[in-house]
Order: sequence, then structure tokens, then C-alpha cells
Amino acid sequence: MLTNIPKGTKDLMQDESYKWQFLENKFAEFCALYGFKEIRTPIFEHTELFQRGIGDTTDVVQKEMYTFEDHGHRSITLKPEGTAGAVRAFLEHKIYAETQPTKLFYKTPCFRYEKPQSGRLRQFHQFGVEVFGASNMIADAEVISLAYKFIKYLGIEDLELHINSIGCPECRAKYRLALQEFLRPKFDELCPTCQSRFDRNPMRILDCKSEICQDLVKGAPVMIDYLCDDCKEAFEDLQADLKALDIDFTIDTGIVRGLDYYTKTAFEFVTNSIGAQGTVCGGGRYDNLVEELGGPSVPGVGWGMGIERLLMVMEANGIEIPKPSTSDVFVATMGENAKHYGLKLVSQLRDNGIKADLDTLQRNFKGQFKYSDRIGAKYTVVIGDNELETKLFQVKDMDNSTQYEVKEEELIQHLVEKVNA
Ligand code: ATP
Ligand code: MG
Repeated sequence: MLTNIPKGTKDLMQDESYKWQFLENKFAEFCALYGFKEIRTPIFEHTELFQRGIGDTTDVVQKEMYTFEDHGHRSITLKPEGTAGAVRAFLEHKIYAETQPTKLFYKTPCFRYEKPQSGRLRQFHQFGVEVFGASNMIADAEVISLAYKFIKYLGIEDLELHINSIGCPECRAKYRLALQEFLRPKFDELCPTCQSRFDRNPMRILDCKSEICQDLVKGAPVMIDYLCDDCKEAFEDLQADLKALDIDFTIDTGIVRGLDYYTKTAFEFVTNSIGAQGTVCGGGRYDNLVEELGGPSVPGVGWGMGIERLLMVMEANGIEIPKPSTSDVFVATMGENAKHYGLKLVSQLRDNGIKADLDTLQRNFKGQFKYSDRIGAKYTVVIGDNELETKLFQVKDMDNSTQYEVKEEELIQHLVEKVNA
């Protein structure tokens, strides 16, 4: 029990973490290219923020939140997604009073009590971006472009962009009636969850994972046929923007956000290569969310990308992330004086940007060479009493096993040149 990890969570061990560091750095670089700045908000918030920000009728709020009472009797929830916290911070720091738009990015753990399976964890991680203060579809095209370019840069070819419009509260009201009309005769066949969605949030029925429900919604009216003029024009603008960017997309009327504060654009990047949980990135526009959370009327658009699923697609595509070398130079020492000399030498090498290491287990020379090989050092320097006396050091090139002498005063410069060659 003590050494068992909780269900639905994963350790990121030392031989894998370079992949995450690579993705995190690249993501930050892409965000910088697009003018986004990073924010870091707490991993827990007041429960009410998510109830309002995600919506009472969603699965996330109804069934999946990690909620607890703290010692001060406040209801606290571990963040199940990134947008609500970003909006809270945007309001709390009155960022809306500054020059707009506000372009933010983050990486964050997320917590959802779901049934663990491939691509579905209880603690997972997201990259996310949000743009506040821009109502024009150019902003939607920009955030989609950021995700698209990042995915392409990573070498992933089989992620498809699906887009939809979910309208605004006005046109959606008409659509809801039409959808209810269509589903009413099938009501008894819907799964219990969808039956409970029927009155409160029928659009989420389109998103149900149950096969029976997916069958029942076939042929249902689609939101884009009900868009008001403004929403229709916006959807056309978005498509024109994406075409201008040469970004291929498919219109997928099944993508819903299904809450009143989400508006217009909804999109996903999906793949068939990682099984049932094929949505790697999902996002959309939320023109009424900031207001719903107690702020002024400020539009927003953004997305969240699951890092674990991103890595799964990369693996499925055979894309390897370059593994950094762990060690450039290993200093093998024998004897007390040599040990001190070696300690100083590795320190000087590190000052020169060389990854250097030495023996800390008092192994003999043979053991130290073996260890040097094991950690992938490119060069091994040998220091014993003899070398200290002659001021000539043995350097072994670990790739081709050749060994040669270098003078003490040239040693550091020599190794710097060799390693950086
Ligand atoms: P799904 O349809 O897969 O349940 P979702 O609509 O709940 O996804 P979002 O809330 O849009 O997902 O979150 C954005 C992204 O976060 C998803 O596209 C996915 O990559 C990732 N994600 C969501 N839930 C999980 C989870 N339980 N485990 C791993 N990744 C997840
Ligand atoms: Mg989900």
C-alpha cells in the first residue's frame, strides 16, 4: 500500500522527464512567438469557481471533481481544468483594465475523478492558452494556429482539426427546442445521464460517449443550421482565416461545449492513433464566461491540450524526442590527493558548461571506467598519483576507446573543445 501509487496517477521518472522538459520548453517558445505570457495559478481554488466556470450540469462538476473541506471549513477543489483559474486571476488582478488583448499560457496538472484507462488519468497535465478581450475571429484563428504549428513542429501528421460553432445564447435557445423535439420520441432509450440532460442541457447529449446515445442522435438537427446572422458570419470568418493560414479542417457538428457562457467557436484536434481517447486538444470561445464569474463583459477564447495524450500520439507516430547526454566527462581518480584534484577539476569543467562527474562510491579504476561508460560519458580523465606528479593526464575517448595524454594546463580547454566539437 505504501509503495502503491494512487489509481489514475503516474510517476514521471528520471529517464522520462527529459521528454516533458522538451515539450514544456518548446511550448513556451511557441507561445512567446505568438506573444503569449505565462501565468501560474494555484492548483486548488474555491469550489464555486468551477461550479460556475465549468457549469453545474457538466460531468466534470457533477461527478469528477476532487473536492474537500479544508481546516477552515471552506470547500476547496483541485483544478479540473485551466480556464476558470485563469479567468479568476484575470479578474482579481484587474488585467482587463490594461491594454487588451491579454494573451496568457500555462502548463498545469488537472484532477478529475474518472475511470482510469488509456489516455484517461485522474491527475493529468495540460498546456493551455487563453486570449481575453478580442471578439474578432482572428483571435480564434491565432489560437488554433498556435496549436496547429506546435503539433506540426513536433512532427505529428495525423491530428485532424475539427471545428464547429455552438452559436450564442439567443440562437442556441431555438436550436435547443429543435433538438428536444427530435429527441423527445427517443427519450426512453437515452442513457440515464442523457435523460437528465434532456431538459437542462440537451446539447451535451450529442457528446455522450454511450454508443446507444450516439446512435440515437444520428440525424439530429445541427447547431450550424440555426446560427443567427452574427454567429453565422463569425463562423464563415473563422473558416476564411483558417484557409488563409492553409490549415486544413473538417466541420464537425458533434463538437459541443453546451454551456451558456461558451459561444461560437468550438474545436478539437483529434486522432485515431491512440484509441478511444483521441482528443488531444480542445477549445473554443467563451464570450460570456468572464461576466458569469463576476467580471465585466470581456470575450475570451482558448484551448487545453493533454500532455499525456500528446506524448501518446508522438509515440504512435514513431517520433522520438532527443535524449540529452547525461555526462560529457567523467573524472576517474585513485588516492586521496587525486580525489581532491578531481573534485576541483569537475567543478571547473562545470564552470565551463561541461557536464562533468566523478566517483562518489570509492570504486576502483575498473569500476569507475565501467560507471563512466554506463552514464554515457564521452571522455574519461584518469588521475592518480603518477599523473599529479608528471602533470600529464590520460584522456580516454569513450566512443573509440583510444587513450592519449594531455598537459595539465591544456586539459580544461582541450575537453571544452572536444565536447563542443
Ligand atoms: P474527453 O472527451 O476526452 O473526456 P474533455 O472534453 O473532457 O475530453 P477537455 O476538458 O476539453 O477534455 O480537456 C482538454 C484536453 O485535456 C483533452 O483534449 C485531453 O487531451 C485532456 N484530458 C481531459 N481529460 C483527461 C484525462 N482524464 N486524462 C488525460 N487527459 C485528459
Ligand atoms: Mg472528459
